[in-house]
Amino acid sequence: MSDKRKVIIDTDTAADDTIAILTALHYFQVEGVMITGGNVQFDQQVENALYTIQVAGKSGQVPVYKGYERPLMSIGEQEHRTVEDVHGKDGMGDSFFDKAVQAPEKGHAVDFLIDAVHRNPGEIHLIAIAPLTNIAMALKKDPTIAPKIPHLYIMGGTNNALGNITPSAEYNFYVDPEAARIVLHSGIPITMVGWEMCTQYSIMDDADHEEIEALGTKGSKFFQDVNRVVMRFNKSVHRLNGTTHPDTLLAAVAADEKIMTKSNLYHVDVETAGELTRGYSVVDINNRLERPRNVRVCEAIDRSAFKDMLFEVLKAIN
Ligand code: CA
Repeated sequence: MSDKRKVIIDTDTAADDTIAILTALHYFQVEGVMITGGNVQFDQQVENALYTIQVAGKSGQVPVYKGYERPLMSIGEQEHRTVEDVHGKDGMGDSFFDKAVQAPEKGHAVDFLIDAVHRNPGEIHLIAIAPLTNIAMALKKDPTIAPKIPHLYIMGGTNNALGNITPSAEYNFYVDPEAARIVLHSGIPITMVGWEMCTQYSIMDDADHEEIEALGTKGSKFFQDVNRVVMRFNKSVHRLNGTTHPDTLLAAVAADEKIMTKSNLYHVDVETAGELTRGYSVVDINNRLERPRNVRVCEAIDRSAFKDMLFEVLKAIN
């Protein structure tokens, strides 16, 4: 029996999600991976998750479940906004890897999550690195799972900072703000790592990429491949000098909370109706709304400790 903590990952697997999955596979006992609609075309995301597990040498050991392909409030086949411009057509830096050997499971992600939580009450932590559609739907289908989930780590939103998909909103909350609202008010203890933590602490610049390349492992090669497009995108659109790793940062915080050097409990909610601000996360730092403090918000990271963790993961995959 592994003494590692158990986690389930909910992901819209593209680029940084893959490195977050590798990070979780390294530090946790991953019970399963759930796919939710987000970054790129849904079946491509499923394939990306399966391929990532293969890169880690764990094909057949970690089940991958398909979840909801579209946000809660979408109508019919209405598509949400995908971001092939950020991560490449395949979401993997235009690497177009071979098809993975593992196939996805037959059951629905939401049923897998509900069943896993009931079979392991108080034991399964959740790592949410995608729009929160699957987790919201699981909570709707069976609200009794909430008190059995010890902690939910969310990459999403911003803490009074610039968004990435619109000026006001971070992508995961923007795609499905209703789902985010349901999850934030679920009563599950939550840690949120927002986009501004990513831009302040997770960027890997050209020099970092040279160090990573010098590791010379299968993991470091994979990292270079999947980040090829986002490097160009960040430089031209976000004026950020390097690749961004929000999902990996979140997975690292979940694995070792000590790298989070500052955090506070705040009331956090999500705008669902704003004309210009749909998906904006309200973080009530001064408690002006006088509502319950439902989310621990990450406010600073030990950047070099995070980088060490990332390097440890990439070195171990050979
Ligand atoms: Ca993601």
